[in-house]
Amino acid sequence: MRLLALLLAVLMMLSPAAAQDRARLDLGASALVESGRAWWGDPPLELRLALTKAVPWRVNIVSDPVRLVLDIRDVDLNGADAKALFGAGLATDVRWGRYRDGWSRVVVELPGPYRIASAVQKTTPPLPQITVTLEPVAEADFTAPPSATAALRGLPDPAEVEALPPREGLVVVLDPGHGGFDPGALAEGETEANLVLVFALELRKALQDRGVQVVLTRESDTFVPLEERMTLAREARGDLFISLHADALPTGQAAGATVYVWNPRSDGQAAQHLVNRHERSDLISGVDFGGQDDALAAAMMDFARTDTQPRSENFARWLSQRMALMGIGQHGRPVQGAAFSVLKSPDIPSVLLELGFISDYNDRANLLNPEWRDRMVMVMSEAVLGWARDEGQRASMLRK
Ligand SMILES: [Zn+2]
Repeated sequence: MRLLALLLAVLMMLSPAAAQDRARLDLGASALVESGRAWWGDPPLELRLALTKAVPWRVNIVSDPVRLVLDIRDVDLNGADAKALFGAGLATDVRWGRYRDGWSRVVVELPGPYRIASAVQKTTPPLPQITVTLEPVAEADFTAPPSATAALRGLPDPAEVEALPPREGLVVVLDPGHGGFDPGALAEGETEANLVLVFALELRKALQDRGVQVVLTRESDTFVPLEERMTLAREARGDLFISLHADALPTGQAAGATVYVWNPRSDGQAAQHLVNRHERSDLISGVDFGGQDDALAAAMMDFARTDTQPRSENFARWLSQRMALMGIGQHGRPVQGAAFSVLKSPDIPSVLLELGFISDYNDRANLLNPEWRDRMVMVMSEAVLGWARDEGQRASMLRK
């Protein structure tokens, strides 16, 4: 049987009214209990967390030592003492605290190897409740988390529950596509990998000059697997992830800048062609990125994205509108959906920008022209700052 060691489950409460006040943990109604008989070793366990309303959440088992890690969002844990949880003694340790922007983390250190048998959030009265049932497994059957959701691999070490200091300013992660043994698209002696790196370095400088913190997923001609690019973004606590490309398509199929946002159901043929090409380089490198998603986890990822997706789409709009205002040539459909793996982060707004198509004569000339790049750098810097202000204002409105 397949071990579902990483399960992401989210229920979004998206009405503005619901966003105004945070859920509270009802400690009195929460518990860790034995949920059955132990046939050997440790007993099956059930963790119940009662909340004043349903929240986005995700749950995961990690090793060394074995522990259940439950992330919950918009929950006020202030004043709730983890040691006072009913049944806390069944675990080696129970702790919780603020974890990162808006998320709190509950860590239950387990007495031995376990697997998650089920994890559900009941949203109906009297109290919404997250229930996670855990079954003991033999040491030999316990494996450190395989990927149920590849996009979430590389989460920061859940061993620590600590209050991260509030972060100042905006962090933008720039992801120059391809690199190393994967040059990307080729035309007239130019490689996509090099063109997008040159552009990323110029854009970094411009953003930094405007006070934005910038993290690059690569700064030289090296290969970085897709998944690692997302991990870097998460580790940097990025507010925005921008993957930069300049791909090739058969003549006549594409010209002009195109912004892609995540859409697994996109039926655009050109987009699918690009997606296939991008995933292939990862397969060549030995990283099996695409194949391991559980259908269940994948479906749940879609819920997670209901929060991030509108912010990604908002940035795509900002970018496209700025390009239009500044006379940057765009594709006939400047904003499109596609299932690029790098856009899968459930918690970081992400877009993939085809600056142009290296296969198109004009686009290629633009990419090689420092004046065009200056204009595009300006467009993107303004789009980033405009979007950030827009999102910031929305957030403060919600907090009122
Ligand atoms: Zn590319």
